[in-house]
Amino acid sequence: MFMKKILLCSDLDRTLIPNGEQAESPQARELFALLAARREIRLAYVSGRHAQLVKEAIAEYALPEPDYVIGDVGTTLYRIDRDALRKQGSKQWLLDKKWQQAIGHDWHDCNRDDVVGLVAGIDGMNLRLQEEAKQNDYKVSYYTDLDLDITSVQDQVAALLHGHGIRSAVIWSRDDAAQCGLLDILPRRANKLQAIRFLMQEENIAETDTVFAGDSGNDLDALTSGLQAILVKNSAADVRKMALDGLAEKGRTDCLYIARGGLHGMNGNYAAGVLEGLVHFFPETADWLLTTR
Ligand SMILES: [Mg+2]
Repeated sequence: MFMKKILLCSDLDRTLIPNGEQAESPQARELFALLAARREIRLAYVSGRHAQLVKEAIAEYALPEPDYVIGDVGTTLYRIDRDALRKQGSKQWLLDKKWQQAIGHDWHDCNRDDVVGLVAGIDGMNLRLQEEAKQNDYKVSYYTDLDLDITSVQDQVAALLHGHGIRSAVIWSRDDAAQCGLLDILPRRANKLQAIRFLMQEENIAETDTVFAGDSGNDLDALTSGLQAILVKNSAADVRKMALDGLAEKGRTDCLYIARGGLHGMNGNYAAGVLEGLVHFFPETADWLLTTR
């Protein structure tokens, strides 16, 4: 019998992982795990974390094993064999080489060392390379000061690299806890949205069967892409506004669901918000939640 499949893509930190300031409803993650165990659900974690940190998050927060992991803000894509996991207890995370090739194209023959060498030649920015674990073949990451003129830095770095045939995306975000900025240089195609679209294409999954959930700035591309998208209730007000404005320009605000709380008495934060949005876009999943409770 034909079984409908839903590709549920979710950010981790402050979307599924309750590591923000707001409270999490007690049963939210458990309910999420029960839903993710349904055969109709294909689960993709989409995160800025690298593979090891995703694995640690799964263990620490008792998250369900996903089918796919898009890590390092879209520069890596792994397929996880959930059946092998069940049968042999071994986790098989297979790096998708085709995605690596696709994004590597943007950097031509240049590699990470070339990028580091070129950026080192720019004066006055005080960029500090992040730890080795936070870098990969197609991700070069720096710490920055918080008072940097970030637009100017992004423009300068992108223009310099472009001059050497490297098509890059230069992404900045702030780490309030550490009181510093984070600057990532990636192939231009390497972001959460493009990785999701690549995955949909490879797995032959339609837009109407796909949904993405997120909470913050590096989710905005995906949130405003026209894909069905969910913002958890604990998302920041400015992100909600930017997402709505971005979609209003395209006349597609119907693509975005902002969690408000109320599903099974939960508050709409984190996993509760993801479930609420899932039920909004796929009403049949409401019954699944009842039968899994
Ligand atoms: Mg997040």
